[in-house]
Amino acid sequence: MPFTELSAEPCCRRRDFATAAIHAGYSPVDDGLDAVVPPIFASAAFDLETAARGDRLSSGIEEGFAYSRVANPTVDILERRIAALEGGTNAVAVGSGMAAVSFALLGAAEGGGRLVAPTNLYGASVDAMASFFPHFGVRTDFVKNINDPAEVEAAIGPDTRAVFAESIANPSTEPTDVRRLADIAHRHGIPLIVDNTVPTPALFRPIEHGADVVVHSTTKGICGHGNAVGGVIVDSGRFDWSDAARFPHLSEPELVVSPSPEQPWDSFVSAHGPHDAYIRRIRTKYVRTFGAVLSPFNAYLQLVGLETLDVRTRQEVRSATAVAQWLLTNPHVTQANYSGLALAERVGHAATPADDIVRRDFPDGVGTILSFEVEGGRDVVDRILDGVEVFTYVPNIGDVRSMIVDPARITHREVHPDHRAANGVTDTLIRLSIGLESPADLIADLSQAFEHAYR
Ligand SMILES: *Cc1c(COP(=O)(O)O)cnc(C)c1O
Repeated sequence: MPFTELSAEPCCRRRDFATAAIHAGYSPVDDGLDAVVPPIFASAAFDLETAARGDRLSSGIEEGFAYSRVANPTVDILERRIAALEGGTNAVAVGSGMAAVSFALLGAAEGGGRLVAPTNLYGASVDAMASFFPHFGVRTDFVKNINDPAEVEAAIGPDTRAVFAESIANPSTEPTDVRRLADIAHRHGIPLIVDNTVPTPALFRPIEHGADVVVHSTTKGICGHGNAVGGVIVDSGRFDWSDAARFPHLSEPELVVSPSPEQPWDSFVSAHGPHDAYIRRIRTKYVRTFGAVLSPFNAYLQLVGLETLDVRTRQEVRSATAVAQWLLTNPHVTQANYSGLALAERVGHAATPADDIVRRDFPDGVGTILSFEVEGGRDVVDRILDGVEVFTYVPNIGDVRSMIVDPARITHREVHPDHRAANGVTDTLIRLSIGLESPADLIADLSQAFEHAYR
């Protein structure tokens, strides 16, 4: 029987990453379709077959597909595959990375909770937490250095519901010590949620280091070709959400998870257990209500993208390292930010605590973005942006095309100037996302753009 179950089960036997990226979550024969490539199920609704089954499906006694705002078979394959690649037990795919970040954070802190996070986050995430989520009663205590245990401990209070960080920050590429942060969060009975967009699971799997929930913008490296927007929330299945004082919304009785209005109502915790309550509720309340679903077509594009994630990432990390090394030798570059250089030879560089985290947790690289400061002012930045020919000027990362952007004006425009300054997002900072073009061509392109800019 094809697809009779949603993503509640562990997704597949753990295989090597490159193999799982091609096979996890779908079997042409076992799923009864014989189609080698996961098909696009372009159907809004699914036949309930009989009155009895319709009743079982809508009461949640039986799992299956009924309506694509809640679940869709193509999207389900993507969810299973990414859950397998991240080492999670369950995943919910959504319409964008920001939907994933918003649902994951509100799903933990809704109804008056607080979050602890650094300020060196994706621009829209930090803006949402600083100025939008408070309208929904969710407030954030920002810390300066997420790798400083004392500062994080001090920020956690009785209302704190989760700690949130990016595994590798964008655009500074600073690494987060996920293991230490998870230990701190768990000592306080709260989960660690990690945005793993920049390294992708090819380079880093936060759940293996103690994280409870992982979010991605699948628009980026996972899709890899810049042709579909999407996001995903992956659950480790390890965090116990049954503390009704800390997470009252997960223990409150709700008709939507109850077999009938007449019997005593269940809560997400009583219906799905303490470990699955949170991710189940994200699908049933957030995706079903706010409706930020991933389309089956975009899920298909991302499944195809995932097939080459491993080999793409390896090549892009090699090229990003070569570009970073070239930037270090450029007299007009006053600072190059690529924490992955800790893995390469670096001349005249004093070791930092970040180097130790990178060497221990990111042995295959930190990702394909890097940033650098140029000497001069905004006019120089403009001339470099206008001068590149191989790099494309866009607010995106993780594409096979190499891309360039000035974060202060574009991707971090909405970030408060204080947060921007604290994270080195100055007017003369340029971010690169390295794709699959020849590294020699990328360096030659930057070189001619610099010549043009400083002529
Ligand atoms: C792009 C990005 C997001 C948002 O993803 P969208 O798919 O653009 O909504 C969130 N976090 C990080 C780290 C990102 O790079």
